[in-house]
This record gives sequence, structure tokens and C-alpha cells, in this order.
Amino acid sequence: MTAPLVGVLALQGDVREHLAALTAVGARAVRVRRPGELAAVDGLVVPGGESTTMANLAVRSGMLEPLRAAVRGGLPVYGSCAGMIMLADTVLDAVEGQQTIGGLDVAVRRNAFGRQVDSFEGAVRLAGVPGPPVHAVFIRAPWVERAGPEVQVLGRVEGGAADGKIVAVRQGRLVATSFHPELTGDLRVHALFAELVGEAAAERVRDQATGGGVGAGAVSEGSQS
Ligand code: GLN
Repeated sequence: MTAPLVGVLALQGDVREHLAALTAVGARAVRVRRPGELAAVDGLVVPGGESTTMANLAVRSGMLEPLRAAVRGGLPVYGSCAGMIMLADTVLDAVEGQQTIGGLDVAVRRNAFGRQVDSFEGAVRLAGVPGPPVHAVFIRAPWVERAGPEVQVLGRVEGGAADGKIVAVRQGRLVATSFHPELTGDLRVHALFAELVGEAAAERVRDQATGGGVGAGAVSEGSQS
């Protein structure tokens, strides 16, 4: 099978770094700015940047509703920092009227680590990521303040003032981190996401072959009538 095609939402933020990280883990990576480009990808990265700007640009470029529809349709999406905010159903300390794509049943707090500490770095152990903890770079980062029952917590801050705060989550095909693995050269989060995208793409091909759709995977082959 050819490598999965992973888009990076290229409205604003650190798009280039994600394209490079995705390419380095063997995915085919493209910029996504328009609905037609979104329709072509097997997965999407929503980069770090500034969620308020990104949300405004998504509304103005007519991308917000297609992005919401893609998430509802089961597209794998990984959001990093501002991207995590974009995937959250609820944003605390949002600007007035701030829109999100949503889909992740979490409440995230923007700029949660406090104004004094704009950025900091730390080691975060991530579920599903083998080997040593991930070196996590936080830049005016959010954290997850509440997570719904379907949300799997992948990682928390250990030690310091933010001890125990949730900084990595997964719900179905949506993955989000408060931090920026694309800035560290540690490609394990991108590798994990590319694997998820590959699995989802293979599932889609299987569903198409058997005449099923998204969600039809639960019907076993023996139960066709
Ligand atoms: N503070 C930013 C926001 O609210 C996120 C920062 C980042 O992506 N590094 O969107």
C-alpha cells in the first residue's frame, strides 16, 4: 500500500515543521487550505500557532464546516497546542465567540500554564509511545481541564506547579497534545499518528470493498444478509 496522505491545515501556525516531521516518518504530507484539498487526505494535522487567528481564518475561508464534517465522518486528526484547542468541544479563557472544529469531548484552558511561564519544557510519558518519555515543549500551551468518558488520557505533566495536568489525549481517531513534538526532532508522536491514519485508510478501503461505510466495521462478514 502507498504511504498515507496526511494534510497539514495551512491557515496559520507551524505548518512547515509538521510537514517535515510527517515526511520523516514516511507519510506523504501536503498543505490543506481548501475543502477540495481536505477531501483528498487520509488524515490531518492541525498545527500549533494561535487558535483565535486560525479559527477566524477557518471561518473566512469556508473551511470550518468542512473540517467539522470531516471529523464527524471519522477523519483522523492530530492537533498540537493551538490544534488541540481547535479540536476541543469547549475552550476556557477563549476570546468572545471563538469557534472550534470540535469533536474532542474535552474542556481545554488556553494559555493555562500562566503568563509568567510562557514556555517550558519537560518530560512526559505517553501511553502508546514506547521508549523514554517524550521531551515536551510547551509554548503558551493549553491543558485539558475536563475530559469526557470516551477520552483516553495519554499523558500528564509530572512534577512542578502543573503536576498532574492532562497534556495528551485521544478519542477515537482524534489525538491532541498541548506540546509541540514537531519542534524537538522526536518523531514518535507523528509516527503514532501516521500509523493511525494508515489503519483508518485501510479500514476505509475494506469498507468500500464490502459495501460498508464509516461505522460499518462493527458488522462482521458473516452477518451480511
Ligand atoms: N496560546 C495559543 C492559542 O491560544 C496556542 C499556542 C501554541 O500553539 N503554541 O491558540
